Amino acid sequence: MMNAQPGSATSEIGELAAPVLHSPLLTELAVRHGFTTRLGGVSTGRFASLNLGDRWGDSPADVAENLDRVSMLAGFPPASLCQVNQVHGAYVACLSAPERRLRDADGMAAQDPLTLAVYSADCVPILLADGHGRVAAVHAGWRGTVAGIAAAAVRALVGLGATAAQLRAALLPSIGPCCFEVQEDVASQFRSVQPGAVQREANGRRTVDLWLANRQFLLDAGLRSEHIEDRPACTCCDARRFFSYRRDGAGIGQHMAFIVGGRA
Ligand SMILES: [Zn+2]
Repeated sequence: MMNAQPGSATSEIGELAAPVLHSPLLTELAVRHGFTTRLGGVSTGRFASLNLGDRWGDSPADVAENLDRVSMLAGFPPASLCQVNQVHGAYVACLSAPERRLRDADGMAAQDPLTLAVYSADCVPILLADGHGRVAAVHAGWRGTVAGIAAAAVRALVGLGATAAQLRAALLPSIGPCCFEVQEDVASQFRSVQPGAVQREANGRRTVDLWLANRQFLLDAGLRSEHIEDRPACTCCDARRFFSYRRDGAGIGQHMAFIVGGRA
């Protein structure tokens, strides 16, 4: 097991098995959670190797084997896994029993022992916990980010009894401002909600900082600055560890960010 390096937002464990990244902030709360890299699975080709997504053409048997490995490594029962149909919106569903893709949503919140899982390959996964069993998992693509899904997750947790100032939020590996170049139509949508997230370089290149935008939504929703981890690795920059839609196009693997609710 490796410890987090100074300044890194996540620590890598199980490098040789099925590597899962952990947030130091959430680890402090003793919340079971993780983010799967692409290392340590059985999928091949563009899905190599630890692909957890089953909608982009990978062998269902390989995806199932990968999920078994992760659930064993992370210590959650596969039957507790919850998924939604991710549609790049801002709706956060509150769950009290396991369900798999019964509804369209991009976030889930729960206080029961459920494993909330979101899938991504550049979009920003956000995991939240209050240390008292209330958790949320969010898939924040650029549309969901603009629509304020990070704040919607906080509201859902507050609705379950959480206090915003106690919540911890971890942004997991996703496309960074280094690589998320956008056209004017996308930039203008960000300017209208989080102008600080848009950068225009001297050469005319426009980029959006999804991490900064989500951080600002979390702060506006009542989180404390020191309770937000917002500088994860960039998926597009690191082909060894991460899948990236921007870098490699469709038909690739997906990462899974997961968090387990309820009191241990
Ligand atoms: Zn990058």
